[in-house]
Amino acid sequence: MAETKIAVYRFMSAGCNGCDVQILECLVPRYKLGELGIEVVFTPEEANVLAVTGSLNIKGAEELKKAYEKLKPPRIVVAIGNCATTRGIFSEGYPIVGPPDRLIPVSLYIPGCPPRPQAIVSAIAKVLGAHLDEEEDYWKAPEGFRGRHEFDVEKCMACGACAQVCSSDAIEVSDSDGKRLIRINYARCTFCGFCQDECPTQAIRLTREYHLSTDDKETAYVTNEVEMLRCHICGSYYVPSEQIKWAIGRIMDKVAAYRDLRKRLEDAMQICPTCRRKIGNIENAKRLLANLTIKTRKS
Ligand code: SF4
Ligand code: SF4
Repeated sequence: MAETKIAVYRFMSAGCNGCDVQILECLVPRYKLGELGIEVVFTPEEANVLAVTGSLNIKGAEELKKAYEKLKPPRIVVAIGNCATTRGIFSEGYPIVGPPDRLIPVSLYIPGCPPRPQAIVSAIAKVLGAHLDEEEDYWKAPEGFRGRHEFDVEKCMACGACAQVCSSDAIEVSDSDGKRLIRINYARCTFCGFCQDECPTQAIRLTREYHLSTDDKETAYVTNEVEMLRCHICGSYYVPSEQIKWAIGRIMDKVAAYRDLRKRLEDAMQICPTCRRKIGNIENAKRLLANLTIKTRKS
């Protein structure tokens, strides 16, 4: 595209303005938008690219459709930030009608909450086919920057503790066909780092990767899949196998009195809690508990 004119669109939409601040930062001289053939304009009539931030409320939706109609060909729409990609943290808001792609075609999504200016410039240059030199130091994310997640699949036991603390609802836990899937949607994530802090096995890490743009937001996921343990009685899969191994290992490490009970604990875990209750194994459970209590008192 020889001459690119970008209009930034944000009208009565839902968001915190963080992405708009980052867009302003993109205008500083060091990113050389002019050399890339990009000019920022203020009305859609002058533009052929529309940069949209925020999720849409009812009024904003109407205005967005009108702005899109006024664009010059080839009418490229870039959704900047999580609210414009997935509705982000405002998804439950009563006036929200959805991200912009509910109404108009979006060519590129730039997830982030907010995305770094470097991520925005780099992604837009890519969609326009412009070359960018990213060698300068300011392209590197600083120490402590929190970007896309990474799973250590050897350590992740799929316990779901990370999902419990995620206030952005960015982590899904689903069980199917004997497997548990942990799915992190980084286009909903605020990169707070709680999941990393909460993980009991240090299996999750926020990397410094910030180039998150995609033309298919269904790919904005980091996933891990773990085998589930099957109940020997009812046949249902009820807990990730690795979680049970981890829990028994912790008990063995921490409580010396329990060490000779490993086999009994492992056997007990072959039966799901529902079946354990149903088979009336209360007497056995009581005996086991009494045994453990006596041993603990002695130690
Ligand atoms: S990343 Fe950590 S907290 Fe999340 S499911 Fe895996 S082990 Fe559990
Ligand atoms: S960093 Fe983790 S806990 Fe925080 S919003 Fe993202 S997925 Fe959720």
